[in-house]
Amino acid sequence: MRQKVSEESSGYFGPFGGRFVPETLIHALEELEEAYERYRDDPDFVEERDRLARDFVGRPTPFMFAERLTRKWGGADVWFKREDLAHTGAHKINNALGQILLADRMGKERIIAETGAGQHGVATATVAALYGKECVVYMGEEDIRRQAPNVVRMKLLGTEVRPVTSGARTLKDATSEAIRDWVANVEDTHYIIGSVVGPAPYPRIVRDLQSVIGHEIEAQANKRFGATPDAVVACVGGGSNAIGAFHPFVGRDGVRLIGVEAAGRGIETGEHGASLTEGSPGVLHGNLSYVLQTEGGQIREAHSISAGLDYPSVGPEHAYLKDNALAEYVSVTDADALEGFTTCCRLEGIIPALETSHAIFHAETVAKELGPGKNLVINISGRGDKDVAVVAEALGVDAREAEEVSGEG
Ligand SMILES: *Cc1c(COP(=O)(O)O)cnc(C)c1O
Repeated sequence: MRQKVSEESSGYFGPFGGRFVPETLIHALEELEEAYERYRDDPDFVEERDRLARDFVGRPTPFMFAERLTRKWGGADVWFKREDLAHTGAHKINNALGQILLADRMGKERIIAETGAGQHGVATATVAALYGKECVVYMGEEDIRRQAPNVVRMKLLGTEVRPVTSGARTLKDATSEAIRDWVANVEDTHYIIGSVVGPAPYPRIVRDLQSVIGHEIEAQANKRFGATPDAVVACVGGGSNAIGAFHPFVGRDGVRLIGVEAAGRGIETGEHGASLTEGSPGVLHGNLSYVLQTEGGQIREAHSISAGLDYPSVGPEHAYLKDNALAEYVSVTDADALEGFTTCCRLEGIIPALETSHAIFHAETVAKELGPGKNLVINISGRGDKDVAVVAEALGVDAREAEEVSGEG
């Protein structure tokens, strides 16, 4: 057994994490931490969370053998953990649900959130509607353009979507704006952060809420193939679906944990979102982690074809796992993610999120390294309905054009 994360209750994962925020937020973070410690094992809280996870979210999500992918790659057996089948179409709902329960118990009537791909915004708008809370979501203008269907969903759910026009008009800018709102309205407002990022205690709370994924994987793997997976592969934006899938396996011998970041237009172009593989330690949005920055310490703009991976930092626990060789991290380009996307559509009948497609592409390499007789799990973090316009543009698919008759049908 290798060393497990030790100092987390202090808000640190090794040297990473912490609480680098304006004075006005310290009290709110302490209040959140106290509420979490008080309710996490409270029978009423646990009953409400588990009941809604089952009846509202649809948990446990299925665990599926990807038979045609397994045959095509010719290596390990490939399994899909189907978070795309969770209510609202991604893992984000696991966290949003847990946090609205905490907000409700803290007596907060107003909810704010940031969103990139819009999946976290939709998940937050959804639980805010369920609990009758006022909700405001900050979203970069560039992401509003890329993920228009999710903007409409949030509005239908009664949430106000506030466009953010600063910087690259993506996730980093939306997060900065949400933090500004929180500083101004902290008395009656709870900020539902969408990933394992931000100041302590968020990385730990979001990790715990998402670890339902890993616990289900462990039980389902045992039932289906009578063993622990040999590898778990997940995409990494802020890192919440990956940490959730990895958590029960961290420090266990014989389980490779592989996080896949966005290499965007290619690492060498500088236009990517690979904070762990290319960044260096720095502070962004209240915590110390790997950050994409210039030599002078200015935060660099990230790029990815998938809005959910388009972020110049990553959760502090991933920084810790990387530095202690408890998980491996690689990166995959926009073009390769599109290939992973198409492969999954054609071979498994599932349109995956573009974020997830990064993990799918890299899983081929891992499946071949492991070889037949081993078991590899890909966390299918979300479905790709939100991405069809971006993919159609990238691949030149036009709905109005008559399909050319192809010999292969
Ligand atoms: C938001 C999102 C991601 C990236 O966020 P993580 O916190 O890294 O999980 C990945 N996949 C999907 C489908 C998403 O919506």
